[in-house]
Amino acid sequence: MMKHLLSLVWLAAVAPFGAAEPQLSVGFAEADISPTLGKKPVYMAGFGSNRTATKIHDPILARAVVLSDGTKTLALVSVDLVGFFLPNVENIRKELKGIDHLIVSSTHNHEGPDTVGLWGASPFQSGVDAEYVKGIEATIAKIVGAADKSKVAAKAKIGTANAPELITDNRLPEVKHDELVAIRFEAATGGKLIGILIQWNCHPETLDDKNREITADFVGYTVSAVKKKHGCPVAYFTGTVGGLMTSLNVPLKNDRGVELKDGTFEKAEAFGNALAKVADKALTAAVDAKLVPFDLRVKTILVPVDNALYKLAKTVGVLNRPMFPWTGTTTPKDWKEAADVTKPVGVKTEVAYLKLGELDIAAIPGEIYPELVLGKVQDPPDPGADFPAAAVEPAIYAPLKGKFKMLLGLANDELGYFIPKRQWDAEKPFCYKLKSSQYGEVNSCGPDAAAAICNAFRALAEAPKK
Ligand SMILES: [Zn+2]
Repeated sequence: MMKHLLSLVWLAAVAPFGAAEPQLSVGFAEADISPTLGKKPVYMAGFGSNRTATKIHDPILARAVVLSDGTKTLALVSVDLVGFFLPNVENIRKELKGIDHLIVSSTHNHEGPDTVGLWGASPFQSGVDAEYVKGIEATIAKIVGAADKSKVAAKAKIGTANAPELITDNRLPEVKHDELVAIRFEAATGGKLIGILIQWNCHPETLDDKNREITADFVGYTVSAVKKKHGCPVAYFTGTVGGLMTSLNVPLKNDRGVELKDGTFEKAEAFGNALAKVADKALTAAVDAKLVPFDLRVKTILVPVDNALYKLAKTVGVLNRPMFPWTGTTTPKDWKEAADVTKPVGVKTEVAYLKLGELDIAAIPGEIYPELVLGKVQDPPDPGADFPAAAVEPAIYAPLKGKFKMLLGLANDELGYFIPKRQWDAEKPFCYKLKSSQYGEVNSCGPDAAAAICNAFRALAEAPKK
């Protein structure tokens, strides 16, 4: 009797209030989010205006991975879209129950429908079909619910592999984020494979700017190949794609040794299969990873918008989201929509630091330059730079001390490029003695957007554990 009592006291001491040991559980689900063709024009995103879709070549998908540590539940969703705005994510959250945090990360597919607005019939018309986007919101809520329901107790293995040969960096200086991260989830008992998560850093745009068939680009082929080999659900996430990480001009040959051309499905397939082999290499190298407990840190911030084209797009209704007065702070006291966007304004967005045991995840709301992730901002700056004296933004990966790390790009928003301020180069003279400005600034909120993001992330990562 005495012994029994003692053991009860001991139990109470290690498990106060009956709290259980954190246990990872994971569930996967996916759904087709291809648009319906034939009723109204479907504008394709990512290159020029008025590129209407003629056919669905392969389905574009939404893929959900729901993870829990027994106390907190996190939903990670990837969509084969060019981008998905925070207000849409907020709509989905209203429909979710039992999910502590939702991340919707776009693969940044340039061969799918416009969900941002910039690629309509003309530069002054939005390419977004509001009804279609509403449907995507409902589908995401549904698959998150399904993945949550299907969760089973799990253990994880994480592996990485580098593949610089599968990225072209088409903007100087050449800095690539070339690490693929693969996570393999197995049932805690029995070891049955539950699903695989792959994260890689590249624009899905192999089909280029003339293609008019909806496709998930190389991502679709990679996911199919990994699924086929392992016979389990596979979720692919896009990470660092700024600066500019692209699949275009990556040299690939077919079996007969013929160089494959951009703009062809043959090349997208070859790229996808090559990337699936890299994923396999990472999976083979995977080691046990403890992914509990969770520490989910999220910050809502205002990012200044200096880009005159974005402001014009807002004025004419091409960019349909609120803007707020910019008063020099990323954390304004009240959020009252700006009446006049010709004055200094910003957009509300979200940055997150998600610590899942030994895995650190940075969730960044746009296309961040690898320089800013890896701590490789040019130093000293090029004399042609517009702001050579600008402070170097704090690197995203620098404060992450976990055994494993991963970046989710275009996470809960698509604010365009986050460019290191001292590499901003819109005015003459141009860097590297070039005759014209390199591509990038035109699709960025402005030279101070990167600092807003990087400082917010640093504050989250360095805050004491609650
Ligand atoms: Zn892009």
